[in-house]
Amino acid sequence: MIPRTELLWQWQKSMSEAVTDPVDLIQRLGLDATLIPEAKKAANKFSLRVPSRYVGLMKRGDLTDPLLRQVLPIDSELTRQDGFSDDPVGDVNAIAESGLLHKYHGRALLITTGACAIHCRFCFRRNFPYSDYLADSAHWHNIVAYIESHTELDEVILSGGDPLMMSDQRLSNLIQAMAKIDHVKRLRIHSRMPVVLPERITPPLLQLFAESRLKIILVMHANHPNEVVDDLAEAAKQLTEVGVTLLNQSVLLKGVNDTASLLTELSERLFSIGVLPYYLHLLDRAQGTAHFEVSEEAAMQIYRQLLGRLPGYLVPRMVREIEGAISKEALNKL
Ligand SMILES: *Cc1c(COP(=O)(O)O)cnc(C)c1O
Ligand code: SF4
Repeated sequence: MIPRTELLWQWQKSMSEAVTDPVDLIQRLGLDATLIPEAKKAANKFSLRVPSRYVGLMKRGDLTDPLLRQVLPIDSELTRQDGFSDDPVGDVNAIAESGLLHKYHGRALLITTGACAIHCRFCFRRNFPYSDYLADSAHWHNIVAYIESHTELDEVILSGGDPLMMSDQRLSNLIQAMAKIDHVKRLRIHSRMPVVLPERITPPLLQLFAESRLKIILVMHANHPNEVVDDLAEAAKQLTEVGVTLLNQSVLLKGVNDTASLLTELSERLFSIGVLPYYLHLLDRAQGTAHFEVSEEAAMQIYRQLLGRLPGYLVPRMVREIEGAISKEALNKL
């Protein structure tokens, strides 16, 4: 008999078969080979990673495909820009214990892993020194002690990286450890995995969520309506059935989703699968992401249009993060 630990779930196989070679991505999509040198160069700085399933949602031969733009390494990433940095939201200064960020009242965030299912070129943590600050066994005792001694912490956020890259066993240990702390009521998971690889939502994972005494909130991350497709809908349905609250956060990205009509469609599609829009983030200014930035003025204009088109509950709060602020800052001065 094969020992249980040697069995891999399909999502783990899919992860090991993810596209990581720019040549492979460019050929699969039938794109011009002249893109290869810059893609390779930019991928040396922040590697390419995208599961085949997500590549399958892109349009072949279209360099402007909004999903492709989120993952294809390009030259612009290599130009250093004033005002952009390696730690744009002051994460290092918010480290309360190694692996735990505490910025806002009542909630603390765990850096559970540095790994992600996909490497988003616009990521604000693309240059984050994960290995120095992981919530791993070396720091676990201190992290638990910190949360225990801060009785105002009624919510713990699992972040990363992508927390759903952890095995079910590690997740289970983590959730149980949090559930043992009396004042912790909610566990929030920030993950792009349901959108990128919905097969990650396995029966044992659903069972974990179903059995926990904690209220589970999953904040997924879709940026474009083309990401909201049938297998995500199925995963969302299963999550909802076990009582998980589903929210979505997006980043406003030039050339990806910077029109009111796309964002309207995104909100409507998300709602149709049981997910409420939560935040629309202005880009955090991480070095290498400047080409994705939408000006504040253009962002406000899009936001006003959204307010004019959608019921209030389908308009995500447009926010940006400012180091040292008591919360994400809402942009709502119309
Ligand atoms: C964004 C963030 C949160 C969550 O903020 P909410 O407004 O509650 O969604 C919590 N902790 C840290 C460190 C964050 O960056
Ligand atoms: S942390 Fe989120 S945005 Fe950044 S690369 Fe991972 S999945 Fe993408």
